[in-house]
Amino acid sequence: MTSTPEGCTTAGRLLPAATWPAADRPPVIVGGGHTGLLLALALEQAGLPVVLLDREPLEATLATDFDGRALGLMQGACRVLETLGLWSELAPVATPIWGVDVEDRGSGARIAYDARSVGDAPFGYGIETRLLRSTLLRAALARPGITFHPATVVTGLRRQPDRLVLALADGHSLATSLLLGADGRASAVRALAGIPLRRYDYRQTALTFAVRLRRPQSPRVRELLRPAGPLALLPIGPQLCSITWIEQTELAKALLAAGPVHLAAALQAELGSAEPFGEVVGRPTGHPLQGQLAARYIAPRVALAGDAAHGLHPIHAQGWNLGVRDVAALAEVLAEAAAHGQDPGSPEVLLRYQRWRAGDAALTFNLTDNLNRLFSNDLEPAKLLRSAGLGLVDRLAPLKRLVIRQGMGLGAPLGGRLPKLAQGQPLTARAAPA
Ligand SMILES: Cc1cc2nc3c(=O)[nH]c(=O)nc-3n(C[C@H](O)[C@H](O)[C@H](O)COP(=O)(O)OP(=O)(O)OC[C@H]3O[C@@H](n4cnc5c(N)ncnc54)[C@H](O)[C@@H]3O)c2cc1C
Repeated sequence: MTSTPEGCTTAGRLLPAATWPAADRPPVIVGGGHTGLLLALALEQAGLPVVLLDREPLEATLATDFDGRALGLMQGACRVLETLGLWSELAPVATPIWGVDVEDRGSGARIAYDARSVGDAPFGYGIETRLLRSTLLRAALARPGITFHPATVVTGLRRQPDRLVLALADGHSLATSLLLGADGRASAVRALAGIPLRRYDYRQTALTFAVRLRRPQSPRVRELLRPAGPLALLPIGPQLCSITWIEQTELAKALLAAGPVHLAAALQAELGSAEPFGEVVGRPTGHPLQGQLAARYIAPRVALAGDAAHGLHPIHAQGWNLGVRDVAALAEVLAEAAAHGQDPGSPEVLLRYQRWRAGDAALTFNLTDNLNRLFSNDLEPAKLLRSAGLGLVDRLAPLKRLVIRQGMGLGAPLGGRLPKLAQGQPLTARAAPA
């Protein structure tokens, strides 16, 4: 890469015509995971060129083997992908989910949520994580307004009055009017910008892998809430199911070390002999779980999105769904700023994003954190509360529909309206005719 502290000439490729006021220094997104890729695609589609950096080499990201890991993408997130024209590529590899069956093993309480009770769209979709990322990556590589630099790591940040200068691990530097941190839980951007982080260790580890079933399954997620942690079965094909199995960390390590045959037997014991599932496939992997929430989404000329801003407990499958709402809101704020000729890195623009997103992030973080604390134990008072709570939601139809709509990501998030992209309205950075 060649670059100067002044501009962002990159890899010998000219940047496309810019509509940003600070046209010579387009925003730089650090992190080409799901969030960074989607943000780049949303901004580019609005007519705003961006530079995207990711630490991983391109081949490594594109060539990932099947590991069985998958995401539950809720309807709200799917609508954003659809508005951005990405859903036609994803739909063939996504499995519709029409319901969620929850069973609290401690209290014996059960509840079934049905998407058809609120409309004619599925709850969401089960999709393999690697297919989602590689589809977004291929789409980003094809867009002329996205200048992508794989195998590029940000290591430092220098502030100047009207710009930031990023130091890269290869010794080059890059100037930008706005730095967008989508670099995950260990975000370098968040640390370099001095944004504090609240963090807990759950002392739980999530095991992820897939199982091949003997019979076709119904299109529903099953979530078993157990004292050690939840165990979720997410359909990702007619006879393929992705497992997220949360255990106390020591036991999770022992299960992983014992190998797939033992893991299959242990899973079968958890599910009960009435449901013979077949075999473990994919690559069983352990993810130590921490909950973390950044104190702010923004710092001068910096904004965070996705896991860089919030790392959630997986109990409610909300992590990236929340990240998609960040992307949709941030892209909308920046497109409006560009349409009005505003500096995208100015405090008033960034504050609009902070105000819009902070409530939703805090609420969703606290919801997942509290659900895990409430359900992952064997205490009698907690069991009574769980049983009463699930029973109440089940009996009150309007409350149940509300819970379903919020879970699907269709309700307005706390602190603001649903972003345009989640309502099917494309963004444009072009100024409205006078
Ligand atoms: C067990 C488990 C189950 C989950 N299930 C669900 C679910 O069902 N539904 C759901 O919505 N969410 C789920 N999540 C959450 C979801 O996986 C995350 O929210 C999502 O993957 C975050 O994406 P991201 O792009 O923000 O971060 P990441 O995926 O961490 O991507 C960060 C990117 O930044 C790059 N990077 C990092 N540092 C640098 C640097 N210094 N310079 C350049 N690049 C850098 C990395 O290479 C990476 O590509 C689950 C999480 C876990 C652990």
